[in-house]
Amino acid sequence: MLDVLIVGGGPVGTFLGALLAQYGLKVQVCEQRTAPRNHSRAIGLHPPALRAFETLGLTPHILAAGVSIRRGLVIGERGVVGELSLQGGGADYPFIVSLPQVQTERLLQARLCDLQPDSLVRGCEVLHVRDLGTHCQVTTRQVTTDQVNTDQVATHQGGPVSTLSARFVVAADGLRSVTRQQAGISFVGAPYPDHYLMGDFPDTTPFGDEAVIFIHSGGVVECFPLPGHKRRWVAYWPFALPASPSAQHLTQIIRARTGLPVPADECQMLSAFGVQHFRAAQMVAGRLLLIGDAAHVVSPIGGQGMTLGWLDAQALAPLLLRACHHQAGLSARGVSQQEWRTFERRRLRASTVATRQAELNMQAGRPTSKASTQRGREALLAGLLHPAAQPLLAAAFTMKWL
Ligand SMILES: Cc1cc2nc3c(=O)[nH]c(=O)nc-3n(C[C@H](O)[C@H](O)[C@H](O)COP(=O)(O)OP(=O)(O)OC[C@H]3O[C@@H](n4cnc5c(N)ncnc54)[C@H](O)[C@@H]3O)c2cc1C
Repeated sequence: MLDVLIVGGGPVGTFLGALLAQYGLKVQVCEQRTAPRNHSRAIGLHPPALRAFETLGLTPHILAAGVSIRRGLVIGERGVVGELSLQGGGADYPFIVSLPQVQTERLLQARLCDLQPDSLVRGCEVLHVRDLGTHCQVTTRQVTTDQVNTDQVATHQGGPVSTLSARFVVAADGLRSVTRQQAGISFVGAPYPDHYLMGDFPDTTPFGDEAVIFIHSGGVVECFPLPGHKRRWVAYWPFALPASPSAQHLTQIIRARTGLPVPADECQMLSAFGVQHFRAAQMVAGRLLLIGDAAHVVSPIGGQGMTLGWLDAQALAPLLLRACHHQAGLSARGVSQQEWRTFERRRLRASTVATRQAELNMQAGRPTSKASTQRGREALLAGLLHPAAQPLLAAAFTMKWL
């Protein structure tokens, strides 16, 4: 019998798997994809994530591989509006690290495999979870081919079906979590009306390791340094999502709103996306627990979704350790209902705060046809970026409230 079976080997599932393996629990992470994703996707690692990664000895590797962003610049239509130092994020990590999700996932997977070889099982789709009161019965199917048709969805042909037993099951299977749906847990939220284009290019700007946000009446443009002298650009797209976006679409917008040339033919990743917010009604349902995007989805504008999921895992791991040891007769004290509920309440509250913050970020970056609105917005941001208000803003952007 496994102690914990984790559905989904994304960043959150592998992080939890590694924490539990380090505790000595018997863990299996089932990942339906036969090969790792190669989309750069999330890039922001906030100070709480860097602290959480210390437990696994991964922080030095993250710092060595990523770019530390210590300062952000806000530019309006008439020049620099203000700048934000991230010193307020904490004395240990007064910065946000930029590292493509694919690289972060690689580090996490390697750590998990060091700690417990064979615990990450690829090509293993979880079909069904049954909570039997004393343990869970999990039906899996071996995936034989893997055709990834979008960033998130894999379609494949199924192979043989088998059954596993685990004391607890953790659903870390993302936004479309089948585990959550089958458990009948409602997922309440909605898409926002906003769309964005995003791409990675060689860094041709003079900004070095700074993040820069251009507040423009046509819609926001953001850019962030990436390792290897690259830069991630994100621009508000004021139309319906294009069926096949082109790098030219994005570079033309960047040129029009910022005046900066970006080489379209050197684009290394491109995507067009809508944004949404969802929250599960429960994160604890008997022996089934939900974490990461399976439990809450926040808009990536603000880039806090992945760190939120890691902090779920960090809060859950010691509870699972105690509950498994209690069931195995190794510990006198189990986990009370009240402790499970406290975990759930705190993590759902954190997701609500991140959702509201992302909404404020999006609000500040929407297009406007009124010159007075644009002027008012720039004046408001200049006030918020005043040195006296900076610690508060830096705390919000580095997720200090978590
Ligand atoms: C464009 C974009 C930019 C973003 N930028 C940022 C950012 O800068 N910072 C940030 O913090 N967040 C960002 N995010 C959000 C971040 O990518 C997600 O929050 C994060 O990937 C969630 O991790 P997860 O492990 O919970 O879920 P996922 O990454 O969705 O992983 C779930 C895994 O479960 C697997 N799976 C699903 N169903 C099954 C099944 N039945 N059986 C087995 N396996 C299954 C999937 O194949 C997948 O590998 C961004 C998101 C997007 C789309």
